[in-house]
Amino acid sequence: MLKLKKVSKFYYSKGMVATGFTKISLDFNIGEFVAITGESGSGKSTLLNVISGLDSYEEGEMFINGEETSHYSEKDYEIYRKKYIGNIFQNFNLITSYTVYQNVELVLLINGYKRKEVKDKVLNIIKEVGLTKYKNTKVSKLSGGQKQRVAIARCLAKETPVIIADEPTGNLDSKSAESVLKLLNEISKNKLVIVVTHNYEQVEDYVTRKITMHDGRVIEDTKLKETPKENTVQTANYKETTALNKLRLGIRNTFNIIPKFILLLMVYLFIVLSISGTYSSFQKGEYETAKEMYNPYFSNLNANKRIVLKKDNNEAFNEEDYEKIQKINNVDYILKDDLSYDREISVYNEYIYLYGSMVSIDLLEGKLDVGRMPENENEIVIYANENDWMISNMQDSIIDKEFQIEELRNPSNNEYYKVKIVGIKYKSTGYSTTYYVSNNMLENVRKNIYETENETTYTYANRTYTSQNGNINNEVRPNANVPKGEAYISSEKTYDCKYSKCINYDLNINSANKYFTNNLNLKITKEYNKNNMNKLLGLSYEENNGAVFINPEDYTSLFKGNIYQSSVFIKNDKLAKETENEIKALGYDTFYILDGVSEDIGTKIIRIAKLIVLSILIIVLFFISYFVIKLILKSRNVYFSTIRMLGSSSKTAKNLLDIELNMITNIAYVIFISLILIANNIEGALKFIKDLAEFLTIKEYIIIYIILIIMSYLTSTRYANKLFKKSAMTTIKERV
Ligand code: ADP
Ligand code: MG
Repeated sequence: MLKLKKVSKFYYSKGMVATGFTKISLDFNIGEFVAITGESGSGKSTLLNVISGLDSYEEGEMFINGEETSHYSEKDYEIYRKKYIGNIFQNFNLITSYTVYQNVELVLLINGYKRKEVKDKVLNIIKEVGLTKYKNTKVSKLSGGQKQRVAIARCLAKETPVIIADEPTGNLDSKSAESVLKLLNEISKNKLVIVVTHNYEQVEDYVTRKITMHDGRVIEDTKLKETPKENTVQTANYKETTALNKLRLGIRNTFNIIPKFILLLMVYLFIVLSISGTYSSFQKGEYETAKEMYNPYFSNLNANKRIVLKKDNNEAFNEEDYEKIQKINNVDYILKDDLSYDREISVYNEYIYLYGSMVSIDLLEGKLDVGRMPENENEIVIYANENDWMISNMQDSIIDKEFQIEELRNPSNNEYYKVKIVGIKYKSTGYSTTYYVSNNMLENVRKNIYETENETTYTYANRTYTSQNGNINNEVRPNANVPKGEAYISSEKTYDCKYSKCINYDLNINSANKYFTNNLNLKITKEYNKNNMNKLLGLSYEENNGAVFINPEDYTSLFKGNIYQSSVFIKNDKLAKETENEIKALGYDTFYILDGVSEDIGTKIIRIAKLIVLSILIIVLFFISYFVIKLILKSRNVYFSTIRMLGSSSKTAKNLLDIELNMITNIAYVIFISLILIANNIEGALKFIKDLAEFLTIKEYIIIYIILIIMSYLTSTRYANKLFKKSAMTTIKERV
């Protein structure tokens, strides 16, 4: 059933040609027990390797079951080995880190059997070779004779018609050798057994045929016993290795050799910590810089903790809104009337000049350091740094003294606001000064802001004028001399009225901003001119010759508006993005102040540079890890060559490696995440790990995970390509 016709094998290396064997013609049959002898170097092993399909041949033809094999590809040889060949080697080629049971089971798992269905079979075979006592013993602990029995058991499990044994007793003492040969003889019924030996006497009793080789040629071929002419060949059952078996073996290999497992795990932990550590330190740097940066539109106090909001339907805020927002975990407090916060004002008298921004007295927490709480709407408390020299040294000149606010007029009399500072609270960080003021005063500030920012127009006699601050010709101005509901216009702007007389005409004023429009309908009752201006309004004509004058209360009503914008201050600014998203989900538009910091080109270049550094780091880490892993896996070559010899395809072998590295990657990642979770809950944990937790978001954790998985996949692919490029035999030989 196995036939060689003038087959030759040459070795080519470094331009030299060496001969393995030349022009060998042989014919083997089932039932034969063949011994091949000959001195060392005569070509015995080479012949067996060619017969085993572990090596190719260069000349002649080899037939198996009538099929010619010279055109066989590596894939065809894989099937050939699975179907026909069981190998036994001088040095056993067992998986020493597996138990006896696992070694025998391995060949069946690779050849597509299910784990459950092989159990009895494996135990029976182990019994047959007399190793039941050792079934759960690691092969590394067995004696040579026992090891060779395991190898035979493995051959039996494979159920191939051909068993090829290259000096199976070469490493055994004579007694073990004797029993191994006896065992081989026992199992040789219905099989073709070919044994290479240079100790012919040992096998003499069993063999049916003796072949002697010399210098790559057969010089003797003697039939010693008649063998039955058996023609039906029972080939081994085999299938592709199932995915489940691959997974099972991959996991078994991961933990099989503990030192190897720990080394690989450390490599991957090193990778994940390097990447995430570098990234988070970049993030941290950016965060620190951003804190320092300046946004021209907002007062920069606490900028890193402030999120500005408006309702997405543009309506005014109400108490319900504030209750909802306050419930969000990271929200510290809400600055309802936040327009005043960005409007820096000066509070001064003839001795003292202070500069700061206003917030509601409702936000004042804790005790005052000096003075008392306000009792009426014109009393305020200041919140200043304890090291502010002027404030701490002039407390007596501040407390209970009157001050004026330059930027703010009291709407009732249009005069500068007067306030009294009644209390001081000191802080140790931050140099800006804050005034805690009454809500009524804040409302007036808001009106003031709307006054300057609204677009105000007025219409009479079908002509519309736009009131512009600073352009006295078109301004609308409050004047206490004008009664409510009336308007005084300039006699120089009457050309649109009939006979240039505008008295009793309607005058409509409209004041609008993005959020609201206020209308006011007045009657023109007076026209002022050069002569009556002073008497009517108490002003001089030269300076006011085009304005419309109305009653101060009417004037104020034009700019009355609710709150359309508020700010939220958060507790932990590293979670700003998450909090922003939570607020958005409740129906608000948000703006995180730090997002508005001006980014110059330098920042962008630095960011790109960091990205490049990170990419280079990842590539360098890949190569370092590849070489370290290659070194660690060097000892695993035995494993991979053995399973290929047992009939595994190179694809299966690669899958096993993929699974193993992937498992370790995942374990490293889980350890990494656990470290972070633990560090996050322990005071005084490593600062490095704490930073990781603070500066990485879910998205970045996922990206790092993907990078790791890709790296481990590339590593196993690269390693597998190098290892499996060669024929199965070269792989086996390389480590021998
Ligand atoms: P045996 O098993 O009978 O001792 P081998 O089959 O191992 O002999 O070797 C036969 C011949 O082939 C020897 O001359 C040996 O040097 C040569 N040979 C074996 N393997 C290789 C190889 N990989 N490269 C080059 N020459 C080889
Ligand atoms: Mg040899």
